[in-house]
Amino acid sequence: MKINPSRCVACGNCVPICPMGAIAINPATKRSEIDRESCVECYLCFRGMSQEHLNPTMVRAVRTVLGWARLRFDPEPDVCPTAAFEPDDLQWPRVIRRAFSDVTATHESTGVHGRGTEEVKTNDVTGRVKAGEAGFVVEFGRPAVGVYFRDIQRMTMALAAAGATFEPNNPVTHLMTDASRGTIREDILNEKVLSAIVEMKTSVDRVEHFVDVIERVAPDLDTVVSLGVSSVCDAKGDNPIEAIMARRGYPIVRGKTNLGLGRVTNPQTAPSAVGATA
Ligand code: SF4
Ligand code: SF4
Repeated sequence: MKINPSRCVACGNCVPICPMGAIAINPATKRSEIDRESCVECYLCFRGMSQEHLNPTMVRAVRTVLGWARLRFDPEPDVCPTAAFEPDDLQWPRVIRRAFSDVTATHESTGVHGRGTEEVKTNDVTGRVKAGEAGFVVEFGRPAVGVYFRDIQRMTMALAAAGATFEPNNPVTHLMTDASRGTIREDILNEKVLSAIVEMKTSVDRVEHFVDVIERVAPDLDTVVSLGVSSVCDAKGDNPIEAIMARRGYPIVRGKTNLGLGRVTNPQTAPSAVGATA
């Protein structure tokens, strides 16, 4: 994303919009500028603000005159008064930033918007996690911290070394050069995205082993890590990982229920496997 300096009138409206804090007014040029390294190409500034098409020269003149009278020109807070934002023609590898950060962008690898995976929210339809298995979701960068792929790779390599099987229908897995080692394409390692999700599966009896790995690696990463573990409930609605996670200091809070009303496409889904608890 770029801000056209000939159009920006430094009203400052866009500064708090950016989740990465990448926009700031340069006092020397009296224009807003985007720190290209911090920008994850989420397009929130471009999409989230109304674009008015006032003449920048006129706005600057009005501001100057009002300034003499100690008055301010304040456009509505959700407006860029001069339509100064200009999306870049993103090329590889930078375009990967938008794929993972712009919620309206669709991941080509999975056909899913945003972070590119429905996780286990639709497990009753997809049957990804079956009875006796545990699905792990390791989420990086959320909220509003961001993550470099080099940090994601540190986690995926540790998980692979511990025996993880990564979910094939996941955009991060698609970017791996060797899923058995957890290595990610070298040309994107220094690209930063708003957030990303790694998914893997193991057996219920190995849950604590992988929680150990994640807890060991996460503090050394330059981002925030969230962990989700899911398994299929039995016929009574009990879930085998609840006690395991509670023992590890992650008590289960039933704060959100996803009801799957879709078509069952996975014939192996057991009749009792009607949901998953994350
Ligand atoms: S909202 Fe538009 S005019 Fe105002 S500082 Fe941002 S880019 Fe410049
Ligand atoms: S595209 Fe997103 S990260 Fe980049 S400047 Fe705009 S709001 Fe900030």
